[in-house]
Amino acid sequence: RTVYVNGEYLPETEATVSVFDRGFLFADGVYEVTSVLGGKLIDFDGHAARLERSLTELDMAVRLHRDELLEIHRELVTRNDIEDGLVYLQITRGSDGDRDFVYPAEDTPQTVVLFTQSKPGLADSPAAKKGIRVISIPDLRWDRRDIKTVQLLYPSMGKMAAKAEGCDDAWMIEDGKVTEGTSNNAYIVQGNSIVTRELSTDILHGITRAAVLRFAREAQMQVEERAFTLDEAKAADEAFVTSASTFVMPVVEIDGVALGDGTPGPVARRLREIYLDESRKAAI
Ligand code: PLP
Repeated sequence: RTVYVNGEYLPETEATVSVFDRGFLFADGVYEVTSVLGGKLIDFDGHAARLERSLTELDMAVRLHRDELLEIHRELVTRNDIEDGLVYLQITRGSDGDRDFVYPAEDTPQTVVLFTQSKPGLADSPAAKKGIRVISIPDLRWDRRDIKTVQLLYPSMGKMAAKAEGCDDAWMIEDGKVTEGTSNNAYIVQGNSIVTRELSTDILHGITRAAVLRFAREAQMQVEERAFTLDEAKAADEAFVTSASTFVMPVVEIDGVALGDGTPGPVARRLREIYLDESRKAAI
């Protein structure tokens, strides 16, 4: 694989980052994941805009602009021959060569890393046909979940807890209400209404979420942006999650409680289809 590190395209075995990098020592960095379908980038502008926001919220300078980022993404997709897959991007605050809680000087170079992951058939994963099963866990993350930082240990622990119970993912709960999945936004369907938590610092502002809600409204579906409880979720007609890597993924079971008849519901299936169709058309 060819990866990108600080201005250079290198074989993955030759790419290096300092042991003092603040991304490594303090999880002081942000990331984005953009999917690739048919060799084209899905929702690139949304990811580029959120990246700028994440950097700004952490007082990190925005040094790479949209066009340069797009060029790097495309170059990696081409060099690695990616038909379907993902482009991962991470920017950290870098380091001035020591470990210090205090940030390095403003002009310290950031560390910029991008790599690709090839996922043939990403859009027709068997999981989407079967739906996924989730468990609930308390949301023990920090209070700025709107910033896409690389502090992913707790979500990773949640995923492991789900696997230990033979499930696929975990929904995180705060004050009895669902915040989001470990790496996706969470939704339930009650009657003909799609319910998902409103935007705030409690959740990541999903790029897929924004697109899916827009498509749902355009298709005259009813959308309610409000927090919902775990009990409401277990009693819902259907549920699903969204993310750049899974698009719209039906949820068929929560804490052992089957939703509806235990198979992906019509709303989730329809939204997945619309999302994939529209996103492919708009891919760049
Ligand atoms: N919520 C969390 C915690 C995430 O980590 C992610 C994606 O990684 C999402 C939501 C979905 O965001 P997006 O649709 O931009 O991929």
